[in-house]
Amino acid sequence: MASKSAIGRRLSLQEYEQGVVSGNRTVLGQAITLIESTLHYDRVLAESLIENLLPRTGKSIRVGITGVPGVGKSTFIEAFGNYLTSINKKLAVLAIDPSSQKNKGSILGDKTRMEALAKNPNAFIRPTATGSSLGGVAGNTREAILLCEAAGYDIILVETVGVGQSEVAVRSMVDFFLLLMLAGAGDDLQGIKKGIMEMADGIVITKADGDNLKKASQAKADFQYALHLFQAPESGWTVKVELTSALHNTGIRETWETIDSFANYCRSNGYFILNRERQQLAWLQESFDQLLKQELLRSKKLNSKLASLQKKVTSNQISPSKAARELLNEVNKVQDIKS
Ligand code: GDP
Repeated sequence: MASKSAIGRRLSLQEYEQGVVSGNRTVLGQAITLIESTLHYDRVLAESLIENLLPRTGKSIRVGITGVPGVGKSTFIEAFGNYLTSINKKLAVLAIDPSSQKNKGSILGDKTRMEALAKNPNAFIRPTATGSSLGGVAGNTREAILLCEAAGYDIILVETVGVGQSEVAVRSMVDFFLLLMLAGAGDDLQGIKKGIMEMADGIVITKADGDNLKKASQAKADFQYALHLFQAPESGWTVKVELTSALHNTGIRETWETIDSFANYCRSNGYFILNRERQQLAWLQESFDQLLKQELLRSKKLNSKLASLQKKVTSNQISPSKAARELLNEVNKVQDIKS
């Protein structure tokens, strides 16, 4: 039963399922739009779709990729993607764009980004707007990863622009986290916080070509030294630093080989599965927290209590923690009425 909805023509469950499994990129795109919808009917359909596809998921290597704007991410992803497809791999790129809500996708919505890769039949590129909540985007991106896996993609790149919260969210849904850095852009680590460097399984120094090559080699040595000062990753993996030039296609194959050896290493020591299990549990917890909150805030009484507490908090009549406790008391009253 196909019908009209806020997301355009809605396909039937079977149509979505068959389209995704057969690797139809248009249907895959429509399925991602479906999972992004917040309409109740769409959510129910999306959950059934994901459930039906679940046995076909999990086989990819999920890679998070980050770096400040201008570091060369899109150029790198283009070179990386073209290399992967040349060795018969299928690559999906899910790009999280935190700016899209404010200025209509100026960073990732730019049509010229990764133009050649977008035309490659073995690549799939999809920007995701973060919308109003990072929590929402994390759930959406996790489901989009599953859809791409069911569609047969071997490597899923989750790209994020920026230097903060979105990195932590992406780290919680990938197997390997790749940080792109520029050489010689100052000791402030280019706005990349130490915490983000600590999350990385691999560091790629971009634009290691021409006059920049010497600086890049020095940066490689510096990063390798800095990494020694960090606590060893729980996976037991030794973080690698790679020199790359997307322009001259150097270090691209090596970056893939690093990711591939990481996956093999972690599969053999059990960390790969352990990490995914933990991520699944975190996802369950986050989804439950979110649903619980949504469900509770459907109560009119609770909403008006929240509004009045918000006023009191901003005018310093009550502390935020005390207000939270009062709200909880209200929740208990609502529950008493229900039961
Ligand atoms: P993003 O904002 O991180 O996606 O960065 P872009 O991929 O758009 O690249 C920013 C600028 O760096 C562009 O002008 C690119 O041409 C340039 N650039 C990207 N990769 C390389 C490279 O490997 N070598 C050199 N010399 N320039 C590069």
